[in-house]
Amino acid sequence: MTDPAVHARLIEIVGDRNALRAEADTAPYLREWRDLYVGKTPMVLRPGGREEVAEILKVANEAGLRIVPQGGNTGLVGGQIPDDSATEIVLSLSRMNRVRDIDADGFSMTVEAGCTLQAIHDAADAADRLFPLTLGSQGSCQIGGNIATNAGGTAVLAYGNTRDLVLGLEVVLPDGRIWEGLRSLRKDNTGYDLKQMFIGSEGTLGIITAAVLKLFPRPRAQDVAFVALASPRDALALFSTARARAGAMLTGFELMPRIGVEFAVRHLPGARDPLATAAPWYVLIELSSGTEGADGGNPTRDLMETILGEAYEAGLVEDAALAESVQQAADFWHIRHGMSEVQREEGGSIKHDVSVPVAAVPDFLDEAIAAVEALVPGCRPVPFGHMGDGNIHFNVSQPVDADKAAYLARWDEMNAVVHGIVARYGGSISAEHGIGRLKRDLLGTVKSEVEMDLMRRVKAAFDPNGILNPGRIL
Ligand code: FAD
Repeated sequence: MTDPAVHARLIEIVGDRNALRAEADTAPYLREWRDLYVGKTPMVLRPGGREEVAEILKVANEAGLRIVPQGGNTGLVGGQIPDDSATEIVLSLSRMNRVRDIDADGFSMTVEAGCTLQAIHDAADAADRLFPLTLGSQGSCQIGGNIATNAGGTAVLAYGNTRDLVLGLEVVLPDGRIWEGLRSLRKDNTGYDLKQMFIGSEGTLGIITAAVLKLFPRPRAQDVAFVALASPRDALALFSTARARAGAMLTGFELMPRIGVEFAVRHLPGARDPLATAAPWYVLIELSSGTEGADGGNPTRDLMETILGEAYEAGLVEDAALAESVQQAADFWHIRHGMSEVQREEGGSIKHDVSVPVAAVPDFLDEAIAAVEALVPGCRPVPFGHMGDGNIHFNVSQPVDADKAAYLARWDEMNAVVHGIVARYGGSISAEHGIGRLKRDLLGTVKSEVEMDLMRRVKAAFDPNGILNPGRIL
């Protein structure tokens, strides 16, 4: 078939209305939110069910047409945006957004890939259950995208990455076959765990169309504190105390620098500084309990007070605010979740999504901050994130009044400096956002030849014609 004939067949599969071709209709699918990637496409296909996805892939595979799966388009490494060849076709899962089933007794739910993470939270909540994956982008990102990127977020400390939250998957393979892996088993040791191949594969091995997710008891008591500290070293000591005292009740431990809080107060609607006096660093601590306390007591409040009391005595804490209401707790989280977007308002920002062993975070920060300040005098490091997982978003805003384009032109140079330090600590250059296009060329520098060879062979086994997200990851 010629390209026009193939295109006509694809339009026929989804129906004219769901094959977007006009520039105004395709535009939102071709640009990601930081404008780092802008692509071109002959069409955006919006299938209504897995059979249509299967038909599309069958046709594309036979014709050698390249397909770019897209969920909520919040990915941060460019994997969901077509390149500028105007030949890659975007396949959006957004119409496939049904919650198929909630098994409250079995603590699982079956959802289609296009459900937003927020819709999944709401559905679990309505069944008095918790789906713990929590990201700043949850109003827009979709569970298919979360699974394809093995998203992390702020609840990893207690519940693990997306990889730990998936029981089963339904996947359309590049040749159009459907893998029916929607099992809800907690234990299943029958050979290779194929679902894990697709989790974190960034749309390069198959298109996820549905998933069975783990649910958890909804917390009955929760407390959130916003704590001021002098240094990341004090934050690490506080983390150690909190984890040792609270165990599984410690459900959040997020680090933020003063400058990040200032950016939030300046640019984030509704954000207010939770503390009267400024401190160099802050942590947000969340404790959750599945049970209410005996005699009307509050187990998380008591525990939080014990932890903070000990930390005060040890001289670790300068000041702390305990949320007195659900709204105040949400206000504290609002600052943390807004920390990515507010950096846009301060000009160019060079990003690193890195992890190091948890105990190495303070040393890593000391070295990396000094290194980028030496490289670009006046730059403003805004390192923040999931301290309890050793995952820091080491973002660096441009110097005030600097030229944005000239600053961003130093992206690779700064990455090399920071990633060099990460390597010395045995860390990762992509803790949770993936590889996509942004870090593809770096992959070979951090993986051994054996790992690269195995990855290429996995890709060739699943997608021999290379039609799914080519040029992403590998
Ligand atoms: P998309 O951006 O549409 O796609 C991401 C990748 O998955 C692409 O390679 C795409 O081809 C592939 N893909 C999408 N859907 C499917 C599917 N159904 N089948 C196969 N492949 C598919 N990430 C974190 O891990 N932790 C955070 O804390 C976090 N915070 C964020 C905060 C903000 C404000 C923003 C904008 C982003 C944040 N992210 C975070 C990144 C992003 O939200 C996650 O990577 C998310 O999982 C992407 O989901 P999505 O539906 O938007 O996927």
